[in-house]
Amino acid sequence: MGFKRIKWKSILCVFLLSVVLGCGDSSSSSVRGKTNGDNNGKIRDSFFEIHLEPLNANKDMFNALLEFVDLADRYNIKLTLLFTPPWMEMIISDGNKIDLLSQWQENGHEVGGHHHGPSVCPWDGYTDLDVNSQEFKNRQNNVPCPESVRGQEEYLGDMDDYISLLSDLGQTRTLTMSDEDVDWPEGALYSAGGRRLQKAISEPELVIYNGREVYKLSSAPLKPGETVLGELITVDDLENEYLSEKEGKFGLNAHAADYKQNPDLYKEWFEFLNKQDPGMKNARTISRIVEESSKSTE
Ligand SMILES: [Zn+2]
Repeated sequence: MGFKRIKWKSILCVFLLSVVLGCGDSSSSSVRGKTNGDNNGKIRDSFFEIHLEPLNANKDMFNALLEFVDLADRYNIKLTLLFTPPWMEMIISDGNKIDLLSQWQENGHEVGGHHHGPSVCPWDGYTDLDVNSQEFKNRQNNVPCPESVRGQEEYLGDMDDYISLLSDLGQTRTLTMSDEDVDWPEGALYSAGGRRLQKAISEPELVIYNGREVYKLSSAPLKPGETVLGELITVDDLENEYLSEKEGKFGLNAHAADYKQNPDLYKEWFEFLNKQDPGMKNARTISRIVEESSKSTE
């Protein structure tokens, strides 16, 4: 009898709780209503891309990356590390760095590629376009680029060469890049990136790049005191967006140089995530997020 009474009491409690919390829309798998103390908490799948840029593949920046990964590890946040070819070369030529990278991958971080095609200054030297073609020249001419930078560029290979270099860092599935329509290589499956606050929330979307099927998420930049496309995105803006009613995964991107400039900014964001989700099971890599979400919709 006592059991029955308790059971009905529990059902009533759950019902009242649902009414109070407005749990009617909590069936979504990507955003679950949850109370966690001092905020009107939500837990979303989230990812954090770090783009490793062509012009700063050096010891100093590698150390900044090392600190960034250490910080993420302290919060059990899994990062998606996206390397341009000069970074790949730097890592491949140093046994200690290769060991570190495999350790990071074992810890659950993802390693992928970042490609600056002909429409970006600086171009990373890889493309499937003929570098003597008008198409290549048009793409290069569309972006202002100082002669000191342009003068250093040289053709290094096609996108098969790019992927073969990248595969020396381990199994890779995710790329962020420009010129996807001509340079998206075979073997890369997932994409992300973005430059606006509204890009922070997305669901994996099937797109066709260069005739290949790609699942694309998007992300917003978190940069220290710097505007991107005329917009300054603060941690407060990102928190409000994260807590908003919009459904989807939450993505951010930054560079090792941004971290070096202001590590506290990233710590602030990780603290916020930790407050939302003390278990930190939802701060994942891009490939994990896409793979899990395709499983849940099968
Ligand atoms: Zn870049």
